[in-house]
Amino acid sequence: MAPVDPFADVLAANADYSRTFSDSGLSGTAARGLLVLTCMDSRIAPLEALGLRAGDAKILRNAGGQVTPDVLTTIVLAAHLLGVRRVMVMPHTDCRMTKATDAELHQRLLEEGVDTRSLSFGTIAYPDDALHRDVQRVRSSPYLPAAVVVGGFRYDVSTGRIATVVPAEPAGRGN
Ligand SMILES: [Zn+2]
Repeated sequence: MAPVDPFADVLAANADYSRTFSDSGLSGTAARGLLVLTCMDSRIAPLEALGLRAGDAKILRNAGGQVTPDVLTTIVLAAHLLGVRRVMVMPHTDCRMTKATDAELHQRLLEEGVDTRSLSFGTIAYPDDALHRDVQRVRSSPYLPAAVVVGGFRYDVSTGRIATVVPAEPAGRGN
């Protein structure tokens, strides 16, 4: 007996999806000039939450929705090559990354038999401080066009509401 494909459910769903799919003819640029950085938390549906459709925005996700070096590099590319003029940094309430320290996570994983101490998980002790820091990390990039605006927001997983935490300001301060 052939082993069960662990991706069978999603591939079957995709077969249905592609049957009625029509090429929108959109390019890979962000039609609404927007980039959203948020957490990988599976409760967040960024397009639906922001009234967007495929083609409208660049969506970046990682643990905590944090501005890491690779995120910053991607934002620079998106701003110069893919039409991004607005950057929303959007972590959320009840984030797993705010519920433990790196040391606690390392200890927990060590108990499961893996030593992860060479990894930096970037757990978040003070969410508002981290969000202000991350917005500033984007704004202060010397590689971003001055036309790019950056704001900090928090998505509430219990209500679906988005609150403004850091009002929009232009980037390109280093230019
Ligand atoms: Zn999260």
